[in-house]
Amino acid sequence: MTTVRKYFHHIGGQQVPPSNNKFIERLNPANHQLVAAWPDGSSSDVDCAVDAATIAFNDGRWSDRTGAQRAEVLYKIASLLRTEYRQLGLIECQETGKPLKQAEEEIAWSADIWEWAAGLARSVHGDSHSNLGPHRLGLVLKEPVGVVGLITPWNYPLVVLSQKLPYALAAGCSVVIKPSEMTSGTTLELARLLEASGLPAGVVNVVTGTGPVVGQRMAEHPDIRLISFTGSTATGRKIVQASSSNMKKVVLELGGKNPSVVFADADFDAAVDGAIKGFVYNAGEECCSGSRVIVERPIADRFVKAVCDKLGAIKVGDPLDPDTRMGAIISETQYQKIRNYVEDGKKCGKLVYGGAELSQLPGFFMEPTVFTDVPVTSALAREEVFGPVVTIVPFDTLDEAISIANDTQYGLAASVWSSSLTTAIAVSRRLQAGMIWVNTFMDVPSEMPIGGMKQSGYGREHGRYGLDDYLSIKSIVIQNPTHLDRYVG
Ligand code: NDP
Repeated sequence: MTTVRKYFHHIGGQQVPPSNNKFIERLNPANHQLVAAWPDGSSSDVDCAVDAATIAFNDGRWSDRTGAQRAEVLYKIASLLRTEYRQLGLIECQETGKPLKQAEEEIAWSADIWEWAAGLARSVHGDSHSNLGPHRLGLVLKEPVGVVGLITPWNYPLVVLSQKLPYALAAGCSVVIKPSEMTSGTTLELARLLEASGLPAGVVNVVTGTGPVVGQRMAEHPDIRLISFTGSTATGRKIVQASSSNMKKVVLELGGKNPSVVFADADFDAAVDGAIKGFVYNAGEECCSGSRVIVERPIADRFVKAVCDKLGAIKVGDPLDPDTRMGAIISETQYQKIRNYVEDGKKCGKLVYGGAELSQLPGFFMEPTVFTDVPVTSALAREEVFGPVVTIVPFDTLDEAISIANDTQYGLAASVWSSSLTTAIAVSRRLQAGMIWVNTFMDVPSEMPIGGMKQSGYGREHGRYGLDDYLSIKSIVIQNPTHLDRYVG
């Protein structure tokens, strides 16, 4: 019997019930059991959280701390995440339907990002200009932007939050978070850990609820100076529109239709393995998913056969089973969306693996699914499926491979598989994507910045650049008044 976790908002360091007394119940998508409930928040709940964050920012309880003091707290939070990885991993597993082992690894991954960002807290510095003449000095300061709003999706709840929150805190900002209405548990648990770490109350606030209510109010709110959002391109567009109310900064990490380009001279087995990981990991619910594989013609048929042969070893089912590689799809809506793409693919292309409904399993489960001969103009070839579905297409020349790879509105990630460094570098430089992997896939060290080109968004997270958006730049020009060039004499 699963224990049902019941949560409130986290505002000003307090557990605050929703003003409308409404709650959202979350059922485990792998077995439809109730696992948690959290507030279905209102606009006025957002306003309370923004007020708490504003007071905290203005009185300097966090924004005035030194980099070293901030780093100490961030390291403590990382350590608490590592201590509680089993409990947090189980929550993530129950709310997303992803395999428990993978969910636990994601908690460790999150802790690693917090540790990296903790180091960065001590690195914030501006510039000085001593070449403005002997009696003038220029200082460039970097200051926290103020109250920021973080809106996160359901596919990697704690990881995506960790790509934003520790950077905002390292910069000295105060924060209001809206997690996905389907996966708010680990964000609310993290709020508890923040308190235990010594982070002052009110610096981080969590309001749960739906995007059109809570998220929209955050995007419009006059006292929020920046929104960092990860999710769909359609929602990203709405946030940009709403943000114009007070000209807030917006950082967007949106969708992708990410190509993997496989050359005939690649390590064949490694490329096959990378292609499978690309669309099977996290059941393909992954903005960087390798949903289009473009293979040099001489090896294309053998490549398709090898992928299909190996997919038999992917166990789909119970997320608690340590052998499971692919768990449940997040929701019925997402499941139906993926199924529609599969049905479209059957009409316009050739289904070579999977595609069947797994109705014998108790939740929303999908087989890994492979298509060939899909027209480049079809929805399956062009749109983000966000499920375990791949299309494989052949190419004849390097120029053709680049042209197919870049023929998309998105530009988030891409991979190149070749044993020639010359080819790998040439192709990497011509691919229009924010992250390129050579002979590997979904390798995201905390040191490396991530983010999109084209309609995959703007701004960068992770790496040294992860801090930049949370800092405002201020110039100060200092003049020795004795040498002031007077205006009216
Ligand atoms: P959304 O973009 O709708 O959701 C992401 C977050 O934005 C959620 O917290 C959501 O709230 C919130 N949101 C929704 N509407 C608004 C709004 N008007 N203003 C502010 N915030 C809002 O993604 P979905 O969950 O609907 O997934 C749909 C598709 O998006 C997927 O099929 C996939 O293609 C893509 N996606 C991409 C992700 C990525 O990492 N790039 C991650 C998740 C989805 P709520 O909790 O109510 O949903």
